[in-house]
Amino acid sequence: MMYDIAIIGAGPAGASAAIFSAKAGKKTLLTDSGKSITKKAWVKNHYGVKDIEGPDLLEIGMQQAKAVGAELKTEKVTKIENHGKNFLVHMGQHQYEAKHILLATGLSVDLAEDMGLKIVDGQEPRIARNIKVDHEGKTNKKNVWAAGTVAGESVHTIITSGHGAKVAINIISELNGQRYVDHDIIQSKD
Ligand SMILES: Cc1cc2nc3c(=O)[nH]c(=O)nc-3n(C[C@H](O)[C@H](O)[C@H](O)COP(=O)(O)OP(=O)(O)OC[C@H]3O[C@@H](n4cnc5c(N)ncnc54)[C@H](O)[C@@H]3O)c2cc1C
Repeated sequence: MMYDIAIIGAGPAGASAAIFSAKAGKKTLLTDSGKSITKKAWVKNHYGVKDIEGPDLLEIGMQQAKAVGAELKTEKVTKIENHGKNFLVHMGQHQYEAKHILLATGLSVDLAEDMGLKIVDGQEPRIARNIKVDHEGKTNKKNVWAAGTVAGESVHTIITSGHGAKVAINIISELNGQRYVDHDIIQSKD
């Protein structure tokens, strides 16, 4: 099974990215090890949402991603290695091949370090280390991207989810060879 994008982490950054990539018709693998910091949050500052508890936000995000075609696996990714031009994502006894990797691993830079990505000191409160990314979300390794808290974004759900969406749009645009936009229009009632 070949995926266009394997997204590691289904917190606000990863699930939001998966919604965009799966909805764009990209074969999307979304994985999560259940350690989201958002589990403890009671979010009252997310535009358009009056208030929501973190576990509910996480669950809705994963359901939204699945509803548009993302394949969700609730297992820890233990290793990602090069496989020709692509990557092999290892989970338990299984491995999955993907063209692009998006790391949305929140507080953890373990996989990134293991892959030889550049790591920098965190600038946000209580964030020790981040993956170094450019303004598009690209890391120092071709076709490996990072989004959300692990990419140094401000630690708020509206920002991490927005950044996941932004990086996903950049990946989709690269796969398509032109800038991508995802706009749905309300149906006329006449
Ligand atoms: C106590 C608390 C209260 C908060 N309150 C608010 C608030 O009121 N408003 C607000 O905007 N923000 C709040 N936040 C911050 C908010 O939770 C974060 O900004 C945001 O959710 C981070 O999203 P993320 O997707 O980057 O990371 P996370 O939500 O942490 O998601 C990362 C995911 O990656 C997974 N992962 C990591 N490594 C692997 C691996 N190897 N394999 C598979 N999966 C992996 C983890 O299990 C995790 O689920 C709060 C945070 C805390 C801790």
